[in-house]
Amino acid sequence: MKDLTTQLIHHPYQPPAGFAAVTVPVHRASTVIFPNVAALRHRDWSHKTGYTYGLAGTPTTFTLEARMATVEGGRYCTLVPSGLAAVALVNMAFLRAGDELLIPDNAYGPNKTLAEHEMKAWGISHRYYDPMNPDDLRQKLSAKTRLVWLEVPGSITLEFPDVSALAGVIRAHTDRHPEGLVSVIDNTWGAGLAFNAFELGADVSVQALTKYPSGGGDVLMGSVVTRDEALHHQLLYCHMRVGFGVAGNDAEAVLRGLPSMALRYQAQDAATRALAVWMQGQAAVAEVRHPALPGSPGHAAWLRDCAGAACLFSAIFKPEISQAQVDLFCDSLQLFKLGYSWAGPMSLCAPYDVPSIRSAPWPHRGGLVRFSVGLESVADLQADLSQALAKISA
Ligand SMILES: *Cc1c(COP(=O)(O)O)cnc(C)c1O
Repeated sequence: MKDLTTQLIHHPYQPPAGFAAVTVPVHRASTVIFPNVAALRHRDWSHKTGYTYGLAGTPTTFTLEARMATVEGGRYCTLVPSGLAAVALVNMAFLRAGDELLIPDNAYGPNKTLAEHEMKAWGISHRYYDPMNPDDLRQKLSAKTRLVWLEVPGSITLEFPDVSALAGVIRAHTDRHPEGLVSVIDNTWGAGLAFNAFELGADVSVQALTKYPSGGGDVLMGSVVTRDEALHHQLLYCHMRVGFGVAGNDAEAVLRGLPSMALRYQAQDAATRALAVWMQGQAAVAEVRHPALPGSPGHAAWLRDCAGAACLFSAIFKPEISQAQVDLFCDSLQLFKLGYSWAGPMSLCAPYDVPSIRSAPWPHRGGLVRFSVGLESVADLQADLSQALAKISA
């Protein structure tokens, strides 16, 4: 098996005879024509052995699904219109009224909001667990639990959990569980490059292809990957019932991003670590969160499990720096634009009020800013941070 960096470029796609281009074309269709009634009755969409209707996939989307399964080290992939739709598809496919869902307290915010609204309205309860404490997860698992979300690292505060330990707790419980229990990891940060989610023990891995795989900040898409055929079919049938198809042009935009993904990941990783270390030395900053920094929560698990890190770090300001000053710092940045999302070419940042998004106590009084480092020059980004810090120390 070749290195993943090579596999992202050399892939099994076969162009039409006589047209030896390696790029995958955009196929767009609702209707697919059948040659006769027998073909219409028997063609099978559920194993992706034939084309039946645009919603069930096209050559473009099947190719991207196969490639995302490869990236993640899984076998089956289902594409959905956004990363959040991937979270929703997983919940809809595996949960029924009366079930309980466990979510890390530091999870991606909209995952929690979905649990608090639609899931609750559909009779599905949820509890938040401390992902840095496997015992807390053990105590919260019950006969009602059907799905456990994992996320690496925690959104915004970037604690890096011990995924194998959490997966071990889930597996021990699954053995005694009457109806099975599914563990799902939000693997957007690792992107399939930093670690293999299945080898750490997850049953299902979701990614926002909006982030690294597309890399351009110009498309929204999500993927749901598994090695388990039965789980895949539950996901796929649900996908067809709810109609979460993706557009051919969008799939092609992601396919164009894949060959450069490993290099972008490495370049953004190096730049992010350099800026995170520099930021640690600044007078206004109390703490910098980045899993590769010694002292950042979960650093030891990151060191053991990961071959790299994504382009995110968070700075927690000293308590004497007011929120108004933190806001002024953000407003003064010129290259770091204010906005959501990450892993695109442009650096971004956003301030967060952590106590309002966590149920666990938060020890800091200073404001937090999360940075996503893009592909600009590190020296220019550091100069930008420096001039914005000078505005608040004056
Ligand atoms: C961005 C993101 C999502 C959602 O992706 P969208 O495509 O924006 O819906 C889910 N999980 C994580 C960790 C993310 O960063």
